[in-house]
Amino acid sequence: MAGGLIPIDEAREHVLQPCSAPDAVAAHTLPGRFPASVMGAVLAADVVSAEDVPPFANSAVDGYAVRAADVVGASPQSSTELRVTGEIAAGAAANVDVENGRAVRIMTGAPMPVGADAVVMVEDTVFDGDKSVLDGSQSVRVLKAVKPGDGVRDAGDDVRRGETVFAAGTAITPAVAAVLASINAREAMVHRRPRVAVLSTGDELIDDGSPLAPGQIRESNRSMLVGLVDQCGADAVDHGIVRDDEAVLEDVLRRAANDCDAIVTSGGVSMGDYDVVKAVLSRIADMRWMQIAIKPAKPFAFGLLTNDHGVAVPVFGLPGNPVSSLVSFELLARPALRRMAGHPESAWDRPVVTAVADQPLKRGRDGKVHYQRVVARFAADGRVHVESVRAQASHQLAATALANAIAVVPDGDGVPAGGEVPVILLVT
Ligand code: AMP
Ligand code: MG
Repeated sequence: MAGGLIPIDEAREHVLQPCSAPDAVAAHTLPGRFPASVMGAVLAADVVSAEDVPPFANSAVDGYAVRAADVVGASPQSSTELRVTGEIAAGAAANVDVENGRAVRIMTGAPMPVGADAVVMVEDTVFDGDKSVLDGSQSVRVLKAVKPGDGVRDAGDDVRRGETVFAAGTAITPAVAAVLASINAREAMVHRRPRVAVLSTGDELIDDGSPLAPGQIRESNRSMLVGLVDQCGADAVDHGIVRDDEAVLEDVLRRAANDCDAIVTSGGVSMGDYDVVKAVLSRIADMRWMQIAIKPAKPFAFGLLTNDHGVAVPVFGLPGNPVSSLVSFELLARPALRRMAGHPESAWDRPVVTAVADQPLKRGRDGKVHYQRVVARFAADGRVHVESVRAQASHQLAATALANAIAVVPDGDGVPAGGEVPVILLVT
């Protein structure tokens, strides 16, 4: 690789290797309800259901529980009349049986009465009498034949008792939380969310809202990194802005290593004289300083900082340029942090699809893979199409912020309009 640059895959392997999931812990839940902090957490053990869902056979519709054999051939032209002998609402017990030539009015979710094997939906019936009177003398006309099982939800046809509903490695989404509630799983073993220290370095950075003094800029990377860490299923711990001062930085890094499972720094990993992150980490941690064959985000550092308890804490040294910070987080920190959060390998990376470039994705040959920020959309041809965002320099975060995908443009002359390109979708 030109000029000592290493391929992205090699950097990724190196970073992922020491990053494993922390210990599993039990997450206690309120009845039927998970605390918001459990969302995104990853199950550390299989969940086996102790109950059937639904717990009993019940009606899928509002209508009339019947014996399918009684309404064979029923149609609007030739309806079948059945005596209505009772009514069952959701939440009630099915205390009336259905005999030949009889029907029971039933509501969605109500238990199926003994004897009935199907439900005719109310739209396929005509009830001529007064619905409020149910004295067993009234009839319903059924306008449609049903087969056994129609309109019925069998016990256990969502989840069966004894079944593994969710394998270890499943992330808790709102729907997963609801299923756990449906099977009365009041406690689930989940991986502890890794605590990830986030800090920015640079004497030029301020975040206190005061007017900018000459040479100062507003710090922005922490706002982004905290959100990106959260998307990994980890908890960001803000360690603020650290001045370009070796003693101060060393102190913050050591405290972060004692308190967190990983550290993400921004800035100070290039070749400049004030790149104190490089100076300090080279001294106190076991680091690899990489120049990766990608653009943006060429400089990147990864290593292990052993804390006071003897634990080797992964440190991700991202470049300070905001777009570079974002891209190196996406490519390198994200898979490692997701691994630490307990996600299975299939969920470490964002989805990648092949897209069509609507305009040329221009680039020159430089031995690097370019990660161009693009807007992706589904088009009428059923394919994903992409367009470059208006500005691609590594400090121009405003344009990148509107991207929803990153095109992976290999070394060469770029992708012509209409050409295909792999894109990383910035969705989970
Ligand atoms: P560095 O990686 O420290 O050499 O910084 C590279 C560029 O990114 C410089 O222009 C910095 O001012 C800028 N920069 C570094 N850190 C941040 C940050 N946290 N927020 C916004 N810009 C930053
Ligand atoms: Mg700096």
